[in-house]
Amino acid sequence: MLKPDDVVAIAVSGGKDSISLLHILTKIERNFPEARLCAVTVDEGIKGYRDEALKFAVKTCQKLDVEHKVISFKETYGYRLDELVDIIRRKGQKDLTPCSYCGVLRRRALNNIARKAGANKLATAHNLDDETQTILLNIIHGDALRIARVKPVLSAAHPKLIQRIKPFCEVPEREIALYAHLKKIQFQGIPCPYAQTALRNDIRNMLNKMEQKHAGTKFMILRSMERIRPALEAIGAEEKLQDCKLCGEPTIGEVCKPCQMLEKLGVL
Ligand code: SF4
Ligand code: ZN
Repeated sequence: MLKPDDVVAIAVSGGKDSISLLHILTKIERNFPEARLCAVTVDEGIKGYRDEALKFAVKTCQKLDVEHKVISFKETYGYRLDELVDIIRRKGQKDLTPCSYCGVLRRRALNNIARKAGANKLATAHNLDDETQTILLNIIHGDALRIARVKPVLSAAHPKLIQRIKPFCEVPEREIALYAHLKKIQFQGIPCPYAQTALRNDIRNMLNKMEQKHAGTKFMILRSMERIRPALEAIGAEEKLQDCKLCGEPTIGEVCKPCQMLEKLGVL
């Protein structure tokens, strides 16, 4: 996952997972003088939520003496997420939730800021809970081949894409919460105001109930996935990436997903 001379951008949202990851990677990095770390944060523009989280990210980076770069939806796409949600609601769009837009736009913004920071790896704090939820989400969406992409190290299939790694992918969320508590790490605790709209939330609740009744469920889902992945990768067509004809960023089709979404809202 990591090499001694990597330049690692850590995606820090200000929540417990990403701030714990920042603490741990900073500690590890001290033993590797050729490696370099920086923290990157995406400010989606969610009033009362991200602005609060950002304060925790800034404070932690100062305390750990880590370089910190912030990129906003406003500067990248011209709109804050709150503004985009207003447009989504005005248009009465029901097929995609605020989280669907947020996830796609944030992934792009993170890649841009990591690239700008000169990183060759982008570490995100996805934990075991996130990963198993994503596996089930893809099944429910009928997108079975996408499950093959739920893995600890993603391939960087284009020179403009920074390789994404997930150091916490086998760590249950509760263990990270315990680590943060024991280390007296300060983080943002309030949930995003749009979080309730996500199908992911229902899956999270269902998995937590299952885990409580049948301990080990989440690990088993991840392990099963690891066994199935080679077969999925073998049947999945190799995705050839090209430059988006609108923004120039890497995409499978002619127009990338962020541009498609912004076009759909009439803001591109
Ligand atoms: Fe974005 Fe949804 Fe996460 Fe809120 S809960 S930050 S809208 S992905
Ligand atoms: Zn594009």
